[in-house]
Amino acid sequence: MANRFHNYIGGEWVAGADWAPNRNPSDLQDVIGEYAQADAAQANAAIAAASAAFRQWSVSSVQDRSSILDKAGSDILARREEIGRLLAREEGKTLPEAIGETVRAGHIFKFFAGEALRLSGEKLPSVRPGVDVEITREPLGVVGLITPWNFPIAIPAWKIAPALAFGNTVVFKPAQWTPGCAFALAEILAAAGLPPGVFNLVAGSGSVVGEAIVSHPSVAGISFTGSVATGRAIARKAIDRMARIQLEMGSKNPLVVLDDADVGTAVNVAVQGAYYSTGQRCTASSRLIVTGGIHDRFVAALTEKLRTLRVDNALAPGTEIGPVVEQPQLDQDLDYIGQREGARLVAGGERLDRATEGYYLSPALFVDATNDMRISREEIFGPVACVIRADGYDDALTLANDTDTGLSAGIVTTSLKHASHFKRHAEAGMVMVNLPTAGVDYHVPFGGRKGSSYGPREQGRYAAEFYTTVKTAYVAP
Ligand code: NAD
Repeated sequence: MANRFHNYIGGEWVAGADWAPNRNPSDLQDVIGEYAQADAAQANAAIAAASAAFRQWSVSSVQDRSSILDKAGSDILARREEIGRLLAREEGKTLPEAIGETVRAGHIFKFFAGEALRLSGEKLPSVRPGVDVEITREPLGVVGLITPWNFPIAIPAWKIAPALAFGNTVVFKPAQWTPGCAFALAEILAAAGLPPGVFNLVAGSGSVVGEAIVSHPSVAGISFTGSVATGRAIARKAIDRMARIQLEMGSKNPLVVLDDADVGTAVNVAVQGAYYSTGQRCTASSRLIVTGGIHDRFVAALTEKLRTLRVDNALAPGTEIGPVVEQPQLDQDLDYIGQREGARLVAGGERLDRATEGYYLSPALFVDATNDMRISREEIFGPVACVIRADGYDDALTLANDTDTGLSAGIVTTSLKHASHFKRHAEAGMVMVNLPTAGVDYHVPFGGRKGSSYGPREQGRYAAEFYTTVKTAYVAP
């Protein structure tokens, strides 16, 4: 029988109400383990444990919090190869990408170990003589953290670390397709010295465990990353009971390529942004908006490059693109690839056979797309991009902004004038100049505009906006 991994509730490892296998998308015969599936009662038990732990943890010493987070970060970094391998095995991104994500998670914990010591307030003179005004930040309470499958250790890290750093207690529900990293993280946090109940892991379905967290009156805040549709549904329920929410969702990110760009740079930026991590990134550049003077050269060079990319087992040395994560995601990718709507498929989009049975798909490129086609408007979340021809910079900017979402936007150009203008006028939370739309630092804010994000930004110093609440105190000494 495969190894069984338990939920972590109130400082105890607890068997699931049910169990689910975690399969390797590079090799469907490889079952990583059986993972506990909580039911609503276990989710409620985790919330009760987090509520009970809050009183003490919220006033715990910042040195204790900092030391625990620092130890968790060190342990993640020390186990980077092992956890990276687990990540690649369960999610399908390549081993170097998976180790990179694990290192990032370790750095995030260490960053917030420092932030725990740096949380500051303000002291001002009052407009009334003899009175002082103090503004301080206090923890929110129990926070529910709900995460997607595509960054199974970095996204949990960038929610859990600030939550704990600022004195909140946590109920964490990972995505069902990638529970392995969540259990590894729980193991590390359990060993780092957290008092029982401060951190709880309840894996299971969104409709049972997720719903229980979102609707529970003791959960003061919900930080969610996932699809737009789920985010909207969560927002409605949470607002109904006035819970604080932070939503990071999908996007249809543009990469603009201007006539004056270096073709080699443009192709590298497009390949990395659109296809690495199998295109399964919220920041992926799935719309390549290219001006007329470079269009044909760019398409020819990109098509050529896509043919050479090595799609194979995520753990195999030299693999550049791993498999799609799961059958439903593969079906969704193939469904979009099948809908031409007048665009021409010039590369990829085919199922591939490899030494082991897996969800392999060759990177697909559409040309002659227009911005009103479904492939240009809806997030596919696979190794699929479309090229949209633009009539100069102004048209390219208009097309880039003509979307319901706005997480990341990129431009490849040698013109300072256009780069500066784009930086100011792109309707996105993050702008990249001569860099892929995906790939960000861990110490600065992350988030988007329009349908992509709702609520305060994640990461960096800005994380305190969600995980703390402000108090204004008036003191007459
Ligand atoms: P998803 O919305 O299907 O699921 C996300 C999480 O929500 C999972 O843990 C799921 O179990 C849970 N969930 C589902 N229904 C729920 C409900 N009714 N109540 C509470 N929780 C529920 O998303 P996914 O398929 O796991 O992830 C892919 C999506 O995530 C893409 O749209 C991608 O763009 C987005 N994403 C966004 C960011 C970002 O920071 N903006 C980062 C990574 C991924």
